[in-house]
Amino acid sequence: MWSKCVRRFSTSPLTRVRHPKLRRSPHYATLTDRDISFFERLLPDGRAITNPDDCLPYNIDWIKTCQGQSQLVLKPKTVDEIQAILRYCHEHQLAVCPQGGNTGLAGGSVPVFDEIVLSLRSLNSIGAFDENSGVLIADAGCILQTLDVHVNQFGHTMPFDLGAKGSCLIGGNVATNAGGIRVVRYGSLRSAVLGLEIVLADGTLLDCLTSLRKDNTGVDLKQAFIGSEGILGLITRVALACPTAMSGVGLGLFSCSSFEKILSTMRLARKLCGETLSAIEFLDASTYNLSLKNLQQTNKPVEPNNFYILVETMSSTYEQAKATLDKLANTALEKEFITDGTLAQDLKQYKDLWAIRERVPEALVADGYVFKYDFSLPPARMYKLVEETQKRMKPFSNVRNVTGFGHLGDQNLHLNITVQNGYSDEIKHALEPWLYEWVAKERGSISAEHGLGLHKSKYLELNKGKQSLELMKQMKNIFDPKCILNPYKVLPYKID
Ligand SMILES: Cc1cc2nc3c(=O)[nH]c(=O)nc-3n(C[C@H](O)[C@H](O)[C@H](O)COP(=O)(O)OP(=O)(O)OC[C@H]3O[C@@H](n4cnc5c(N)ncnc54)[C@H](O)[C@@H]3O)c2cc1C
Repeated sequence: MWSKCVRRFSTSPLTRVRHPKLRRSPHYATLTDRDISFFERLLPDGRAITNPDDCLPYNIDWIKTCQGQSQLVLKPKTVDEIQAILRYCHEHQLAVCPQGGNTGLAGGSVPVFDEIVLSLRSLNSIGAFDENSGVLIADAGCILQTLDVHVNQFGHTMPFDLGAKGSCLIGGNVATNAGGIRVVRYGSLRSAVLGLEIVLADGTLLDCLTSLRKDNTGVDLKQAFIGSEGILGLITRVALACPTAMSGVGLGLFSCSSFEKILSTMRLARKLCGETLSAIEFLDASTYNLSLKNLQQTNKPVEPNNFYILVETMSSTYEQAKATLDKLANTALEKEFITDGTLAQDLKQYKDLWAIRERVPEALVADGYVFKYDFSLPPARMYKLVEETQKRMKPFSNVRNVTGFGHLGDQNLHLNITVQNGYSDEIKHALEPWLYEWVAKERGSISAEHGLGLHKSKYLELNKGKQSLELMKQMKNIFDPKCILNPYKVLPYKID
């Protein structure tokens, strides 16, 4: 499977230039030489980075929608160092941007202005794995794929999987409550997180690092930090329940003429594959073609059509995983839900078929500037939104593609609009708030799995309502009263 996310570090316009109405808050101190000396003493061996070229990759997000101007990147190796950094920043009113693998897609992982980047990459020891309970303890800076390889030795697997797994870090995954392709089988990441260790904004250590599956004692504080995108505290250690790995895996790619047939195939897969089902993903023809082009794959794995669906099965035996998939393929053909299909015959084919889906984000970035949306919607309405967006984008000659794909089994649509010649304010205003209002009317979610980051924070109330938003602000005030953690993100920021 694909390992490391491909990144190109050409510059993108500064966030403050692209969003001129967003102003740096005077509430935060400006970095001084004295501050830098403190951090250089605290983190010797070049772990306090000030060289602008070396800071650049930490200032630009993966899809190049944001570029901050941080002049300082800190790479602590221990929790004590993280506590000392935050204690100092809290005392001196310095804003901090927590960063994991910087693969986030909502503009949350890079500074907006000059916030100090606190990178978790060097806090990366793998702790104990308990073979009796299947619980792994790991530092926040461990790469997801490294952890998967580690637990595989014991016959276990990580409870989630996503295309960025070679680059994203487990702390970032928990901070975004990452979804990915196995939610169908293992549920949301939240349910697999048994414990967390957190450093609060003032440097206090909050130890919620239990490894227990059952623990009904008081308020479950760790839940507040899962998916909070670095605005409440720094996740430093994680205890995760890792399921037993299945040795039998099957994967099928099928083409369909309409989205209705995609939904029929999904319902059939649920019925026929039952407990062996582990992933259901879909791509429309534009997404699929862009991905094949990016992979430089000229031979088409299946007869082309308007939509494609990937169904994966897992079982303790290969025969069982394959048998349910065979049954699905035959029945779906008979019922004319699908027009063609292929089943992976070996590991290479399995990886090649998954690459078509997993490398879509890379294919979109190669196609132009990407307006990226990540919605939860009732399945019957998912593709309607893509069609309406296509119509809405018709007058814009610089729009290259309006594509829909996503985690069909979890009602998660990824809608993407690629634009030639870079970002366009005009297109953004044609899309927003129209898209968010459309989704809110359907009682969907404006962010199924990527989070709100910088891009979607101002629409939170539309999704959650006034009361919830007010409570979230109060929580922020309790955990981070000086508001130094990841400012301007997640909660709506007042713009004058
Ligand atoms: C090719 C590709 C495929 C992807 N596929 C999926 C997918 O299928 N499903 C999905 O959900 N996402 C997906 N993503 C998005 C991204 O990979 C996830 O959001 C991931 O969980 C982010 O992890 P990260 O370590 O890169 O975090 P970052 O991007 O560095 O940070 C994300 C957010 O978390 C905060 N943060 C990071 N670490 C910590 C910490 N230790 N403590 C507190 N806050 C922290 C940051 O401030 C930021 O707000 C994909 C991205 C790419 C590039």
